[in-house]
Amino acid sequence: MRLAVLKERRPAETRVAATPETVKKYKALGLAVAVEAGAGLKAGVTDAAFAEAGAEVAPDAKAALDGADIVLKVRAPLAAGEGEVDELAMLPRGALLLGQLGTEHAGAFAERGVDAGSMELLPRITRAQSMDILSSQANLAGYRAVVEAAAAFDRGFPMLMTAAGTVPAANVFVMGAGVAGLQAIATARRLGGRVSATDVRPAAKEEIKSLGAAFIGHEDEESRAAQTAGGYAKPMSAAFLAKQAEVVADAIKKFDIVVCTALVQGRKAPTLVSQPMVESMKPGSVIVDLAADAGGNCAMTKPGEMVTTPNGVRVLGYTNWPGRIPAASSALYARNLLTFLTTFWDKEAGAPKLPPEDEIVRGVMLTRGGQVVHPSLQQQAK
Ligand code: NAD
Repeated sequence: MRLAVLKERRPAETRVAATPETVKKYKALGLAVAVEAGAGLKAGVTDAAFAEAGAEVAPDAKAALDGADIVLKVRAPLAAGEGEVDELAMLPRGALLLGQLGTEHAGAFAERGVDAGSMELLPRITRAQSMDILSSQANLAGYRAVVEAAAAFDRGFPMLMTAAGTVPAANVFVMGAGVAGLQAIATARRLGGRVSATDVRPAAKEEIKSLGAAFIGHEDEESRAAQTAGGYAKPMSAAFLAKQAEVVADAIKKFDIVVCTALVQGRKAPTLVSQPMVESMKPGSVIVDLAADAGGNCAMTKPGEMVTTPNGVRVLGYTNWPGRIPAASSALYARNLLTFLTTFWDKEAGAPKLPPEDEIVRGVMLTRGGQVVHPSLQQQAK
C-alpha cells in the first residue's frame, strides 16, 4: 500500500499534509510513503527530513502519485485550468484522497473514481476531537491573530512601567468565543492585554469568564437558545443583531484591538463591526478579521489585505490564518489525518477500512466507488 503527499499549489497555502513524525508512523503501519519534492519547504520541512523519516522523495506530483492508494493534501487538488498542473487527472482511480477539500469538487472526484474525504466536515463529537482539523487550525489561527495584531499595533499589549513613565495596557475585544476566539483571549491575556469578549451562545459567556476576560453582549430569550445541538451558533434574527450592534457600538470606542472570529456554519459571517463603528475607533487601533474568508465580520475588511482607514485604524483581513503559522499548523493537521487513518485501519488487511455507517466516516466521505455519497450533497441533488 502506497501513500502520497503532494506539494500544495493553491495561492497562499503554506502547509503540508504530513510531517517526518507522521511519515514514520505511516511507515510503521507498513505503508510505502512518497512525498513530492519541496512539499514541506514552506512549513520548514526539508526533503532531507522527509527522506530521513523513511519517505521516498518524488521529483514531481506525477511520480509521487504513481500507484498511490492514499493521497494526503491540505487543499483540494488542482483541476484542469486551475493552475500549472492538473493534479486531479493524475489521481489514481480507486485512491483514497483526504484533505480540507470543500464540497464543490465532489462531482469531479466521483467522475475520477477517487474516494474523497473532506476532513472539515467531520462531526464535532468527542470521539472525533483528535482528528478535528477545524479545531486544531482555528486554535493556531486565534493565537496568530493576536500576534499579528500586536505587531501591527503601534503601542504595546502589557502595561509598561518605566522610569520615563507608564504605558497603558492595550484594551482588547474578542468577538466570537469559539475555538479561535478562546485562544485569542488566552493569548492576549498572556501578552498583558485587558481583554473583553462577546458571543451569542450562553456556554461561550461562561468560557469567556473562566479565561479571565470580561463579557460584553446583549442577552435575551433568543441568545439563551442560540446554540445548535452540534454546539454551533444559530443564525441570529435581524432584531437581535441590531440590539447586539447597539452594545458593540457603545463599547468599541474604548478598544485598541478588536479580534473578529464570529462564524455561523454554512452561512456568510455576520457583520458585527460597521463602518461607523470603525470610524469611532482611535487612530492606531487594529482590527483583525479571522472571518475574512467567510465574508468578514468587519464592513471595512478587504480579504487578503491590510488596509488603513482614513481615521488611522488598521484592518487585517488576511485569509488562511493557519497558513501564517505553517510549521505548527502542519504538525497538528498532519496528526489529525494520521489519527483518522489509524482509527479506521484494518491491521490484517494493512489498509484503511471505512465503514459507511460510522458517524465519522459518513460525515467526512464525499464520494465512494464513483458516487457522491455525502448526505448534504445527496439532499441537494434531490
Ligand atoms: P465557529 O467557528 O463556527 O464560530 C466561532 C464563534 O462565533 C462561535 O463561538 C459562535 O457562537 C460565534 N458567533 C456566531 N455568531 C455570532 C454573533 N452574531 N456574535 C458573536 N459571536 C457569534 O465555532 P467553533 O469555534 O468551531 O466552535 C463552535 C462550538 O463547537 C463550540 O461550542 C465548541 O465548544 C464546539 N466544538 C466541539 C468540538 C468537539 O466536541 N469535538 C470540537 C470543536 C468545537
